[in-house]
Amino acid sequence: MAYDTNNIFARILRGELPKIAVYEDDLTLAFMDIMPAVEGHTLVIPKEAAETILDLSPEGAAATIRTTQKVAAAVKKALGVPGIMLAQLNGTAAGQSVPHLHFHILPRAHGLEMNFHGRKMVDAKVLMPVAEKIRAAL
Ligand code: 5GP
Repeated sequence: MAYDTNNIFARILRGELPKIAVYEDDLTLAFMDIMPAVEGHTLVIPKEAAETILDLSPEGAAATIRTTQKVAAAVKKALGVPGIMLAQLNGTAAGQSVPHLHFHILPRAHGLEMNFHGRKMVDAKVLMPVAEKIRAAL
């Protein structure tokens, strides 16, 4: 299927919708998930128009993994958790709801509950101080 240039993340990349960014470079962007599964839930996306991992160029894939690794380290440090889970869903059958490739970075700790992502909106006022801690840990 053709890439939908009006999907939410494409619009965030064009600056048409707000975001709470924690990291950006020429090829990638990392920002807070607005309906987090857990505190510190961060998303990493390529700037390239790619719906799934199968649509991404090797250069885009390398850049996205580089940013995911860098930001995951900062999320781990900022949230003070022992574990980090990465999730990346391809296609609606796999649970993908936004048709622009993204990696989920999810802080994990024993006994730390995780909601299903994308269900409950959290106020920007709550996300901003968490994003600030992650930026400081980069
Ligand atoms: P998926 O199910 O496609 O793997 O995950 C999409 C993610 O995008 C969900 O975790 C959802 O909370 C997040 N999301 C959806 N809309 C927005 C938005 O407008 N802004 C941000 N920052 N995250 C969003």
